[in-house]
Amino acid sequence: PDPEGCELRGRIAALHGLRPENVLLGNGSDDILNIAVRCFAGEDESIACFKPSYSLYPVLARIQGCSCTQIRLDEASGFSVPEDFIARVSDARLFIACRPNAPTGNSMPRREVERLCGGFKGAVLVDEAYADFSEDNCVDLLPKYPNMIIARTLSKSYSLAGLRLGYALASPEIIDGMMKVKDSYNVGVLVQKIAMAAISDQEYLRGTISRIKNTRAHLSTSLLAKGFKVCPSESNFVFASPPGGDAEGLYLSLKSKGVLVRYFAGEDTGRYVRISVGTDDDIHRLLELI
Ligand SMILES: *Cc1c(COP(=O)(O)O)cnc(C)c1O
Repeated sequence: PDPEGCELRGRIAALHGLRPENVLLGNGSDDILNIAVRCFAGEDESIACFKPSYSLYPVLARIQGCSCTQIRLDEASGFSVPEDFIARVSDARLFIACRPNAPTGNSMPRREVERLCGGFKGAVLVDEAYADFSEDNCVDLLPKYPNMIIARTLSKSYSLAGLRLGYALASPEIIDGMMKVKDSYNVGVLVQKIAMAAISDQEYLRGTISRIKNTRAHLSTSLLAKGFKVCPSESNFVFASPPGGDAEGLYLSLKSKGVLVRYFAGEDTGRYVRISVGTDDDIHRLLELI
C-alpha cells in the first residue's frame, strides 16, 4: 500500500477543511493513540487522562513504561471536569481528553479544552471517536493550538469497526513526528479504498447519525421517566443509573433475557450501565424489560 495513504489523506483533509499534511492514517484510532503515547512519553515520564474514560489510555502507558495520572471526574455534578485539573498534571507530556467521553457520553465544555491546550506545556490529544454524534467538535481549534491532536475513527459513526481505519489531525510538525513512529504499512490497500468510498458518502452518514440521535433522545426521555439518573449524551450510548443504583443487578437481569448492556464495576461507574443506542426495536425491547 501507499505508506502515507496520500489519496485518502487528501480526502480526509478536504472533509475537515485542512491540508493533507495535517492528516495521519492509523489502523483504527487505537493505533493513533498508541503512536501518540510512544511519540510523547518516554519511560519515567507520564501521560494524563480523566477517570472514568476510555480504558486503553492507562494500558498504553503501562506498555510504554510511563505512568498515567488519572483525574477523577465529578460524578455528583454529572461527571464534570474539576476546576484545578491542569495544575495537577503539569508534569505530563501528553493529556488525552476523550470528547464526548466514554463511558459517560457527555462532552467537557470547549472552553475547558481551550484552557487545557493553552495552559498545558505538553501535547493534548482530543479523542473524538464519538464526535459525529455530537453537536460540536474541536477541529476548528487546531490552527489556534499547535500542541493539539484530534483522533477520529470510522468505527462508530460509519459502523466500520472491522475495517480498522482511524486518523489523527494535527499540525504538520506533529504529523511528521508521528509518521516516523508508525509502522511503515499500517493501513492496507483495501482499507484505504473502502474508507475513500465510506467518507465520500456523507449523505448516508448523516442519515445514520440522525436515526441514532432520534433513538437516543427517546431512550433518554424514557429512562428519565422511569426514575433513572441519565448523563446527558452526545454519543451513541447512554450512561444511566437505575433508581436505587443497583446497576449490576440490572445488567445481570437484562443479560439473562439476552439483552447486553455494559456494566463497569468501580466507585463512580458501579451505579451506572452504558446502553448502546440500537435500533428502535432494540430500544423498545430493552425498555419493556426494564
Ligand atoms: C472505539 C474507541 C476508540 C478506538 O476505535 P478504533 O476502532 O480503534 O478506531 C478510541 N477511543 C474511544 C473513546 C473509543 O470509544
